[in-house]
Amino acid sequence: MSQLVCATSNCKRIARALCHCCNKNICLLHLKEHNDAFLSQLNPFTDEINSADYRLDSIDIKVLLQEYHKQLEEWRKASYKTIDQIFDEKSKELQRILIEKIDKQKIEINLVRDTITKLNEEAETSQHDLDLIKTKISRLHENLTSIEQISFKIHTYPLTVDDNAVQIEEKKDLQTILSSLFKTIDFADLSS
Ligand SMILES: [Zn+2]
Ligand SMILES: [Zn+2]
Repeated sequence: MSQLVCATSNCKRIARALCHCCNKNICLLHLKEHNDAFLSQLNPFTDEINSADYRLDSIDIKVLLQEYHKQLEEWRKASYKTIDQIFDEKSKELQRILIEKIDKQKIEINLVRDTITKLNEEAETSQHDLDLIKTKISRLHENLTSIEQISFKIHTYPLTVDDNAVQIEEKKDLQTILSSLFKTIDFADLSS
């Protein structure tokens, strides 16, 4: 039985195995050398994967979302502003109703007072005048009572703000930026 010699030039050692990388029968020493050469090719990949990992860790979610957070904030402020506007309008509406009622009675009071002053200046009055003034003052007090006891029923309904008021759509270019981080490594090639 003849012994195979290592296929490496100038090597006289006995071939111990068929090296799958070069398809030659080689000795154990050269088999280890071939294996080491292969292993050394892994080093750049270690650097690359570390660099990708570092790049991923360096992504600042806060910075990426800053602009969109600002847009959401603007929407929130605009929505609050709408509520504030309705609040102001309704407050003024209530105030206007009361002011109109008070102004109307003020005019009525001044009219009666003018009548009394006029009658005093003329130094003459009749039973009819007295009855008329009495009736007017009596009606005035009734009106003032109704103002003092004024009652409103305020109907409020919850605002219908549904989730669809704000919709988030992921743009293609943003997706490309994020996924490109992983494109340098094709894991399908690492099967052997
Ligand atoms: Zn080999
Ligand atoms: Zn050899």
